[in-house]
Parts: sequence; structure tokens; C-alpha cells
Amino acid sequence: MIIDFHVHIIRREFHADEILEAYLEPLKELEALLPRNDDELALWSNSENDHERLLESMDASGIDVSVALPIDWGMIGTTHATLEHYMDWLFEGCQSHDRIIPFMGLDPRRPDARELLDRICRRWEPKGMKVYPPTGFRPDDPDIRWLWDELDDRSMIVVSHTGAAWGPLYKDLAHPKYFDPVAEAHPDLVIVLAHLGGEYHDEMWDVVERHDNIYTDISALQGWLPRRRDMVLQRLRSVAERIPERALLGTDWALFELNYPNQLFMNWLRDEDWASPSVSNAILGGNAQRILGL
Ligand SMILES: [Zn+2]
Repeated sequence: MIIDFHVHIIRREFHADEILEAYLEPLKELEALLPRNDDELALWSNSENDHERLLESMDASGIDVSVALPIDWGMIGTTHATLEHYMDWLFEGCQSHDRIIPFMGLDPRRPDARELLDRICRRWEPKGMKVYPPTGFRPDDPDIRWLWDELDDRSMIVVSHTGAAWGPLYKDLAHPKYFDPVAEAHPDLVIVLAHLGGEYHDEMWDVVERHDNIYTDISALQGWLPRRRDMVLQRLRSVAERIPERALLGTDWALFELNYPNQLFMNWLRDEDWASPSVSNAILGGNAQRILGL
């Protein structure tokens, strides 16, 4: 079974305006691709998509199950819908599709964060939560320790962004090392550090090797393909060798559909020699199947 542990299903109104602007920034030189008004922006796959489009992409790329990770942008800028509305839309859309597993998203700095967590959990029983520290919190901050306690009590999986962040986001908060004390205090909490740590790749290794409950996903490696193929292969080979049971396939769909689409990435992963068949099966699905209890 092939499981993509890192995709995003999102509509325009759930993004913060400031975040969309920031994500568009690196593309500003490619003017022809840029949306010129709201209608065009809505059609742009990076800013808006839905459950059906994800399923089409999964079929085309040979992915059986995807984990959808919503991000709570509400504390960093102006969104046009409430977090609960976003969660309702995401989870309702998954009810008729058992191939998509939605997690919830939450910024623990929200004044009503505890109540929101409780309400969303009671309503939708998510298997996990996506957190995005660069919106403004440090994972080891004692003020948010309650969040890790709650997620641990509820046996929910945590997925955190690590690595690059720009625009109004705080990249310094995206360090893997801030999860060190969290993993230490919660040895049963499964924590997935996304993107192999991204630009903090070496630091990711320190944390992953110290804690058996820390996992990582390979999403966003496509950003370096095809130009830095050797570097990507080297990263894949080291996770295959060092943590074959704690690395997960992730694609970050639909972020790379413009430059390195999922179909291409999945074919590349199948064709290249980066792990034995049993290890690649584990990384492309078996490990995710185990932690999701599928
Ligand atoms: Zn992502």
C-alpha cells in the first residue's frame, strides 16, 4: 500500500492573505504564471484545490491513501473563514472518501485553543494534528506544553513543519531541535518532522537519532529535482539505511504540481535505486500503515 503522509487540501478562504502573498513572492519573476486577480488565484492549484482533485492525482500517481494536513493560518494574518469552518469542510469532504485521512490543524496560541481542540476532536475524531511553529510559537515553550499533553492523552500523531519559511513566518521557529524536549517528555507521542528537516537537515538527524518516537517525511525533495538528483538520492539512501522504520513518503501535494508533479516524482521514486524493496515498501507505505493503525 502506498501512503502519502503529507498533502494539503485547501480553499482560498482558509489561507491568510499575507501567506499567499509570501508564497507568491519567489514566483514573481515568472509573471505569466501569476494570478492577476482573485478568480485566477482561485484556479491556481497551489492556493486552492479539493478532495476530487487530490483523488485524481492519487490515481494518476499510484497512491492509495493520503493524509491531509490543514494549517491554521489564523494567528499570522487575515483569513476569510473560521478554523472550525475549515475543519468541517475538510472532514465532511473525506466522509465519502476513505482513501483520504484528514488531520486537524491548530495554532496553540489561539486564546480559545483548548476549547477548539476539544470541540474539533469530539466532532471529527482526527487521528492527528498538523502544527506550524513558524506562525509564531516554539514547540518547547512551557506555555504550550498542554498541547503535547493533550495530543499524547488522545494518542494523536503530530506532524510539524520544519525547515524553510518566509514572508510573515518565523523561520527560526522551524528548527527540529525544539522537539527534543517534547519527545523526551512524551515518549509515546509520535512526532513527524516534515521535509527531512529541510534546510535544518543535519539538526533533524540529531533529534531523530535521539528519540524513537520521532519520524520524518520526505516531502518537498521534489524542489531539488531534477537539478540536484544526486543530493536527493543521497538523502533518501541515508534515511533508508539509518531509519528505515521511521521515514514516511510525503509529497506536499499540490505545492509542486507546477514544477515537478506527483506523477513524475512517484515514477522517479519507483525507478531509482535508493533502498531495498522491503525498505522502500516500508517508507512508501508500510510505516505509515503501522502508525495510522490501518
Ligand atoms: Zn506541506
